[in-house]
Amino acid sequence: MSDSHQTIVIIGSGPAGLTAAIYTARAELNPLVIEGEPSSTGDQPGGQLMLTTEVENFPGFPDGILGPQLMADMKAQAERFGATFLTRKVTKVDLTKKPFEIWIDNPDKDLPTHTADALIISTGAQSVMLEVEGEKRLLGHGLSTCATCDGFFFKDKKIAVVGGGDSAIEEATFLTKFASEVTVIHRRDELRASKIMQKRAHENPKINFLWDSEVTEILGSSSVEGVKIRNTKTLEETKLDLEGIFIAIGHTPNTSLFIDKLSIDDLGYINTEPQNTKTNVEGVFACGDVQDHKYRQAVTAAGSGCMAAIDAEHWLENQKN
Ligand code: NAP
Repeated sequence: MSDSHQTIVIIGSGPAGLTAAIYTARAELNPLVIEGEPSSTGDQPGGQLMLTTEVENFPGFPDGILGPQLMADMKAQAERFGATFLTRKVTKVDLTKKPFEIWIDNPDKDLPTHTADALIISTGAQSVMLEVEGEKRLLGHGLSTCATCDGFFFKDKKIAVVGGGDSAIEEATFLTKFASEVTVIHRRDELRASKIMQKRAHENPKINFLWDSEVTEILGSSSVEGVKIRNTKTLEETKLDLEGIFIAIGHTPNTSLFIDKLSIDDLGYINTEPQNTKTNVEGVFACGDVQDHKYRQAVTAAGSGCMAAIDAEHWLENQKN
């Protein structure tokens, strides 16, 4: 066994992981949170809220709160009750053994760096990005990946949504509540979205479509001012003036560590039992966006982090009997 045995380890430190940390710390389980470390591929301790600016829909903050501040406050709250944090990335887990084994460095080493009686996975998900010039600079400054979170900031503005799937069409339709005009920019001439959602969008007078079009650059120095577009058939390049842009080309759950180790659905998300956070391996719980491709909100992630903490606490208690 490794020299760092924990009753409970939480992998991931977004709203789900930090809420699980607050609850398990207050249950005197001394959780260790392996919070991840920044990487060039967008990994981030604190999760997706670290990439946002103002958060106005997290209950309890009538004047809004900055995403990074919300995460710093949640972390401080967990630390106050005894949670400890390790700013490292998990590189391997072995869930076939009890206690579970966890590596945070060279995965080829024989011995794990940590072992845990129970494990809470809250590694989150990432929005797929376009990887074009201007995107990183303007994220949170007119460029968003979440209409529910940020739509309100675009009242009477001319905006665009990139993508042709259900997410893009749902977001475009939702955004017409606020925006004066929503252009759906799609790389083909046919949507992938379900027919009923397509119909709704086509009937909405505020939505128009730019077909066969790829965004090649997001323009603007401190906030979005437009995009450069290339027609995928004619290769003609044009510019479209905009005050905001939403990228809705899919999400990738951060589950690569758990493939072949946990039951994972067709979209790559960890399967949990209905109404709780148990995975198919006893003692392993999953919460937040890594197991939720529907709601994807900070508050729902926090709620499921609370559920995972309670589920884990009960499971650990039952092991003693
Ligand atoms: P999706 O179905 O994979 O669609 C992604 C869209 O983005 C596609 O239209 C794709 O174009 C486009 N795209 C991908 N990479 C791109 C790139 N690099 N540049 C430009 N465009 C790109 O993803 P999703 O819409 O997020 O949906 C994921 C799943 O959740 C689906 O099963 C969906 O049905 C479900 N969902 C359901 C609802 C609902 O029922 N209310 C709402 C949201 C999502 P192509 O079409 O050319 O591939």
